[in-house]
Formats: sequence, C-alpha cells, structure tokens
Amino acid sequence: MSGHKATWAVQQLLPPALLTYFFWAWKICTFEIGPTFIGKTLQHPLLGATYSAFASISLGTLTLLFLRLYLLPSRQGIPPRDPPDDIQLRRVIFQVSGPPKYPGDVKVERCYKDECKGRWKPARTRHCSTCKVCRVGYDHHCAFFANCLTAPYISLFLTLLLFSPPIFFLLSLPLLKPLTTRTFKAYHLSRTDPTLKEWWAWSWSWILPAGPVGRYVRGLWIGWRRLDVLDPEKELRAGVMVMVLVGGLLSLICLALLISSFLLIQDGRLAVDRGRQLSHMKLQKTILKLHSKSQPIPTTLQQSLLELSEQEWFFVPFGPPGQGEIVFTLPDVKPYDHGSKKNRELVGLKGWWFLPWKAMKAAEVNVWNWELAEGVQIRLREEAKMMRLERMREGEEYD
Ligand SMILES: [Zn+2]
Ligand SMILES: [Zn+2]
Repeated sequence: MSGHKATWAVQQLLPPALLTYFFWAWKICTFEIGPTFIGKTLQHPLLGATYSAFASISLGTLTLLFLRLYLLPSRQGIPPRDPPDDIQLRRVIFQVSGPPKYPGDVKVERCYKDECKGRWKPARTRHCSTCKVCRVGYDHHCAFFANCLTAPYISLFLTLLLFSPPIFFLLSLPLLKPLTTRTFKAYHLSRTDPTLKEWWAWSWSWILPAGPVGRYVRGLWIGWRRLDVLDPEKELRAGVMVMVLVGGLLSLICLALLISSFLLIQDGRLAVDRGRQLSHMKLQKTILKLHSKSQPIPTTLQQSLLELSEQEWFFVPFGPPGQGEIVFTLPDVKPYDHGSKKNRELVGLKGWWFLPWKAMKAAEVNVWNWELAEGVQIRLREEAKMMRLERMREGEEYD
C-alpha cells in the first residue's frame, strides 16, 4: 500500500475515533468523576461541581477547535487557474518555473498532476497527493483531521495543540493517585487469583500479545476486570484508566507537534520545507557516495536534487512596465526567513492569537504572493539591475 493510500485509510478512522473519545471523556468527567467521585466519595461537592463545569467547557472548546479543522472545505487554499493581474502584467516580484529558455521567456509554475491540469502554482504551493489538489501555503497533510494544514489555519492548529495537554492533565489530576493505587491492586490480584495466575505461568504470554510489554498490559487488564467485579468502584473502573492513558498519549503527541511546528515557523519554514530539506540532504549523500565510487550519477537524481533545493527563480520587474529579469535565490538562503518575530506574525501568530474564538478565524496570510525576506528582495533587485546593465552594454557593442 503506498503512503497516501495508507493515509487515506487511517484518516477515515482517526477523526471519528477522536470525536468519540472527546464525547466519552466529557460524559465520564462531567457526570461521574465530578458529582460522584469528587462530590460524594471524596466529599467535596463544590469542587466536584467546578470540575464538571470545567470538563464541559474545556472539552467542548477542544471539540469545536477540532471540528473547525476537520470541517475545513476540501477546496480550501486551491489556487485559481491563472495568476492575478499584478503577476500577469509583471508589476511585482513573483516566482517563475525556472531559468528562461530564450530571451523574454517568463512562465509561472503550473501543476499538471491529478485534477490540477495546468493550474497556476504560486510560491509555497504544494500538490497534496492524498487530497489530489494543489494548496497555497501548504504545511502538511494531517490524518488527525483528514485535511491539509495550510498557513491561514496554523494558529488554529497550534491553539488546539497548546490547550489539549493542560486540559487532559487537569482533568486527570484527581484520578492519578487512586488509579495508581488501583493499578497495584489489579496487578496483585492477577498474580494471586487462581484462574488469572495461569496467564503469568503460560510461557507463550511472553510472545503472543506483542511481546513482553503485551504480557504485562494483558496481565494488568485481566486483573483490573476481575477487580471491577470483586471490588467495584464505578468511577475507577478499567475504562476510566483507559480514558486517562489515551489522554496522556494524545497530550504527548500534541506537545511534540507543538514544539516542532513552532520551531519551524520561527525559522521561516513550513513543515513541507523541512521534509524537502531532509530529502535534499539524503539525495546529496547518495550522490556523493556514487561519486566516491566513481559510478555514474543518473540524470533523474540530478533533476530531483535541483527540484528539492531551496533555490527558486523569480521574475524581478526592472525598467519600463512589463520588463524585468529572471533571477535565482542563493541555494543556502531561506527566501522566506524574516527573523523569528516576523515569521510568527506572517502566519498570524501575533497578539492573543491563541484565544479560541480568535483561533477559529482564518488568519490573514498573504498566501498568493508570499513576502520575500528583505535581504533577499534587495539582492534580487540588485542582481536584476546588474543583468540589465550587462545586457545594455552588450547591446551597445553590437550597435
Ligand atoms: Zn497540483
Ligand atoms: Zn491533503
């Protein structure tokens, strides 16, 4: 099964599973843990009521943020068939498909994959092989919400990642100690109960349930199920333990994604740029290896190396309207790195961006013609001027 087919299959299951989890956790926290466990067992009715209210508000907010991402229209961020006038009339700097093949050859990049059929492909647009369309400001395709993450929704995505771990932690907090105690009880029971003991004695238990870890997971699980029957504590049943563990696992995923996405954004990159950079480095290594063995380097490899490099070609207007030069950016320069503060602001991470009602709105990101870093712009214009002067000098010689 190829990568995007696997993604497609996973994303049919993941979003409904997550929504079910949110609903299930909301029900247990609001109607069981709050009023019964904290309110009656621990005898803190006020705290129990506060906990229930917090559970409803926080899990409700997470669900809304998640639904906003899940229900983004599948047509979001698809470029128009042709570029806007400013680019067609060559009034601004814009990315072109490559070096000119003949004088005056200025072509914007176009995509011919799947349904794109020659659609305009602005700078920082990528074709998503799962969605089979091009998207501007493409960051990555996310199986968790079955859609592409694009620049205007990065603040929404980060808000969801930012709030999930503390909410899961606060909701689990009153359960951590009693659940730990009960885990030991369950383990002890499974080791001593005459029928359950057999599991530990069975030598295949080391191998069959996914190795030694599986042996202990299943051992604990059967102990816990027996404990739920012998010494029932409804609010501390095995299912509640599963709820807390899933919450913990989701929190870890959120934290890892939050940190890595944030660092990339500070660096002026989107997730896709990082992926391409890694592929580029890998390809360079392969080519070096071939080189050291004096083996020929296939042209397809060289072609991919060029495509994956961060070097891009731009049309730079210079002289009379509609005229200009095609200049490339230097291979080791990130064309969209404006410094960490501006990089954050450019994708909408400014002020109180993480307030849920602000995050719900698409951030205003100029995705149709991304602003180039100031230094890069200056260099491109200088370069265009030199090229033009050079051309004029050559022209004079021929006169
Ligand atoms: Zn495309
Ligand atoms: Zn996609």
